[in-house]
Amino acid sequence: MKKGRLVVVSNRLPVTLCGSPEEPEFKSSPGGLATGLRTYFDHKIQESPDWEGVWLGWTGQEVATDSQPAVEELLCQNHNCIPIHLSREESESFYHGFCNTTLWPLFHYFYVYANFDAAQWAAYVRVNEIFAAQIAKVITEDDTVWIHDYQLMPLPALLRRQFPRLRIGFFLHIPFPAYEIFRILPQGWQRVLMEGVFGADLIGFHTHDYAQNFLRCSLRILGLEHRLGLVQLPARSVKVDTFPMGIDFEHYSKLSGSEGVERERRRLRVSLGDRRIVVSVDRLDYTKGILQRLEAYEQFLAACPELRSEVVLVLVVVPSREGVAEYDRMKASIDQKVGAINGSYGSLAWTPIVYHYRSLDPEQLSAIYSVSDVALVTPLRDGMNLVAKEFLASHNDELGVLVLSTMAGAAAELGEAIIVNPNDRMEVALGIRDALTMPEEAKRKRCRALRRRLGTYNVVRWADDFLEGLSEAIDETCNFERNRIAGGRLDELVAAFATARTRLILTDYDGTLVGFSEDPLQAVPSTRLLEILGRLSSLPETHVALVSGRLRQTLETWLGDLPVGLVAEHGAYIKQVGSDWRLAVDVQAEWKNKLRPVFQHWADRLAGSFVEEKDFSLVWHYRASHPDLGNQRALELVDELTQFTANIEVQILTGNKVVEARSQHINKGLSVREFNGIYQPDFIMAIGDDWTDEDLFRASPPNAWTVKVGTGGSAARFRVKDYTETLQILETLGKIPNPEPLISETISGTADVFPN
Ligand code: UDP
Repeated sequence: MKKGRLVVVSNRLPVTLCGSPEEPEFKSSPGGLATGLRTYFDHKIQESPDWEGVWLGWTGQEVATDSQPAVEELLCQNHNCIPIHLSREESESFYHGFCNTTLWPLFHYFYVYANFDAAQWAAYVRVNEIFAAQIAKVITEDDTVWIHDYQLMPLPALLRRQFPRLRIGFFLHIPFPAYEIFRILPQGWQRVLMEGVFGADLIGFHTHDYAQNFLRCSLRILGLEHRLGLVQLPARSVKVDTFPMGIDFEHYSKLSGSEGVERERRRLRVSLGDRRIVVSVDRLDYTKGILQRLEAYEQFLAACPELRSEVVLVLVVVPSREGVAEYDRMKASIDQKVGAINGSYGSLAWTPIVYHYRSLDPEQLSAIYSVSDVALVTPLRDGMNLVAKEFLASHNDELGVLVLSTMAGAAAELGEAIIVNPNDRMEVALGIRDALTMPEEAKRKRCRALRRRLGTYNVVRWADDFLEGLSEAIDETCNFERNRIAGGRLDELVAAFATARTRLILTDYDGTLVGFSEDPLQAVPSTRLLEILGRLSSLPETHVALVSGRLRQTLETWLGDLPVGLVAEHGAYIKQVGSDWRLAVDVQAEWKNKLRPVFQHWADRLAGSFVEEKDFSLVWHYRASHPDLGNQRALELVDELTQFTANIEVQILTGNKVVEARSQHINKGLSVREFNGIYQPDFIMAIGDDWTDEDLFRASPPNAWTVKVGTGGSAARFRVKDYTETLQILETLGKIPNPEPLISETISGTADVFPN
């Protein structure tokens, strides 16, 4: 059962303040996000009157302090909105500055337009902090916060800091670029943006490609690996997934059938004549490729003289970012090009392009979509593109043909459109020709399939899917939290330890008691660790054993002076306190001669990687290598090894930046049995961080304190965040003043609990 409200946060509210702040009025904000989520709110309220949603964002204007209460009241009462107030300077540097002149061009691959200004970056971070501070005043930890778009990338982490258990989703509405582009940003900025987004539990993108780009950047910049989009942070899981945004299909379809739109269509027919109509609607922006589209239309006119006077292009350019020099220049070029085409090809009876530089109201837009035969949607790069979808939804006659750029996110879903590359003018020109000459049956077949998909995966479904995905992502984290050794559970552990007659602690070394180093030999035990182990093993009836994949010699050098048991090479060798090393299993390792050259070949191919040889295993380490290439080569090595090892008794295992070939029948579970048999403990704790420790957990009795370090699937009953938490826990156990065993029948019958 979902608790709390849905709190949507976006840069702009769905309504924009117009009129004076003294007599505030509001008009709907343009754009797909505002319309789409408004529909979602209405739908949810209709579905369940108890449902609560609120929207936070900027009003689009600076509001003087004494006018703020009136604006706030109106927004709250009439629109379910809470404003975030920004000064003119703040919004200028933040929105017109960093958002529109750095992130927008860079994320759309127009990196030469990107500006890298430290003051604007500071404003961006500052405004995100203002958002966080104001949001913190109005939310509770029971709410679900859904943050939208590139203007607010640092915000999830800022909120997470204040509300560790808050449900946070983040959605990016523009493309996420390839690492090669993203890394053009200064390194410090890269980290803040990436870490910022990772404050969320679920991170959504319009297309699979954007999600993959993001995951690759996570690996390269933050060193975070993923499994099917699931990233394990020390104490949380974060899911990265694809949710192509839909539109309110029913609304566009109904609107198109309304009387008002029918009137508008008739009016358009009269003014445009009986010609076939190609429509193009965009905000003025270099990403939309308007000039390139005009060039393609010009080529179409040149290449298809027979169709010329039968066609008219209705070009709607919606004013945007006026006053910015680049946009003004672009507008001038478009004006000039339209004039040139109309001048060259037009006649007294026919104008090839009817050009409107203004925004249209919803009825006008619906009429122009539905009266047109073809929509020409050819952005050079676009996160999704809703115009393409709205055009199709408005065509209740199922006869609209869409010519769509492969560079639009929508192309991933709308495969039945005529897909073109906007940089190939002739391909676009031929696309227009094919669209105009397509037989009616083919048009209907394509349009129907597209409309069916849009009708099913509409904006409500999109938002529901995202929020469901958020709940699933949070379940992963809750699972971790539920089993974490902290608070009351730590008290329980301490009590169980303190009252036991005989205690056994089996612990892995790397990742469990120490962090990872690029060079494994650098991961020496700290003085604190040695003290903790020394203290624990000096307690009466308390036995400690290090169960590691390391070589005997390494363990001996690092830990040999302590009165602790040692297990080397994942259980192949065991050394009891006061005894010598002993082989625990009878296995052969001749296979190493066959596999050694393969391992060595891989080490030679990848800089920074090397082979470690143990008595019963060969290990290829690649922690210091290029992370992407390392993962790729690891997959290849596993593939190759699988072919070599078909008939020999070897296991191939992939671990934390290692690939290991190991004699079969060796595993850490063997040591559980041996230590258990010797000490007959009534308290047993087994701790480890990777899959080799799963054998340790599985071989432990059901009521043992099995503890997995970190997130991810495990047979362990309990969790800790990282090795520092393991140390704290062991330190706490070691400090129990005088563990006093309860000598009672209830715990003396250990044979039942730990059968040998
Ligand atoms: N739109 C509008 N007024 C207009 C023309 C278009 O509000 O005069 C809307 C259109 O209906 C669509 C949005 O603007 O929902 C444009 O969204 P799209 O994803 O195509 O491009 P964006 O401008 O967000 O990059």
